[in-house]
Amino acid sequence: MNQLFNLEGKVALVTGGSRGIGRAIALALGAHGAQVVVNYATNAEAAARTAAEIGDGRAVTVAGDVSQPGAGAALVDATIAAFGRIDILVNNAGVTRDDLILRMSEEEWDTVIDTNLKGTFAVTKAAVRPMVRQRFGRIITVSSVAGMVGNAGQTNYSAAKAGVIGFTKAIAKEVASRNITANVIAPGFVDTEMTAGLTDAQRQEIMRMVALGRTGKPEDIAPAAVFLASDEAAYVTGHVLTVDGGLVMQ
Ligand code: NAP
Repeated sequence: MNQLFNLEGKVALVTGGSRGIGRAIALALGAHGAQVVVNYATNAEAAARTAAEIGDGRAVTVAGDVSQPGAGAALVDATIAAFGRIDILVNNAGVTRDDLILRMSEEEWDTVIDTNLKGTFAVTKAAVRPMVRQRFGRIITVSSVAGMVGNAGQTNYSAAKAGVIGFTKAIAKEVASRNITANVIAPGFVDTEMTAGLTDAQRQEIMRMVALGRTGKPEDIAPAAVFLASDEAAYVTGHVLTVDGGLVMQ
């Protein structure tokens, strides 16, 4: 990858870095010089592959389910233990449990809220203290256009993804004076295991709404994270950056 920005000397924690969008973000941060902690929930092998690809002993893997109590602090502690600091937090770990509201169980609701919204709170809370101390930080949270415009069958997911946007705007104001920025990336439709279950008809319907006429790849999302993590993005905070091929234009 060509060097867009220089992240040498920076340490990043990417939640859900084993697969999909998180993997592409971890690889891109690593390719731009960052040391990277690749978090995963269960898929140790995939996480190890991501870390190996970053290479040069500049990446480690750390297991941890962000929805579980204490996971946020444990992940940040592991990052500091591995590389001595934490400069960049990418809240990417996310799940879906799609259902129409009439059928949605409390468990489906809680799983998505606990992982996508509460997990973001927990890891960010733990990361902010060392960032405040070092007077530098970049918090990047992966939301979704579903959190901006809603998606039928995804009340839980849309609520969680809208929640992280509000969360980011609030924390951006709280920590701005400490030279910490907080921003959101809102992808559109990206080809990953998360979206692999859609039917061809559903996929065609989504594609019709994408101005650029194609689905996204994880590699389409990663450069936005590199930018938001960079020194050059110092004056960007509280922003929601859609990376969606023109699916949602506001
Ligand atoms: P994916 O391919 O299903 O990968 C999900 C990643 O999150 C995996 O690395 C997984 O780890 C990890 N993860 C899941 N639950 C976790 C937990 N409780 N604790 C820690 N890690 C956990 O999904 P993706 O499409 O790359 O999605 C990544 C992010 O982008 C999510 O926040 C998603 O909502 C968002 N997004 C995706 C799309 C899309 O179209 N794909 C669109 C908009 C937004 P394991 O490998 O261990 O399971």
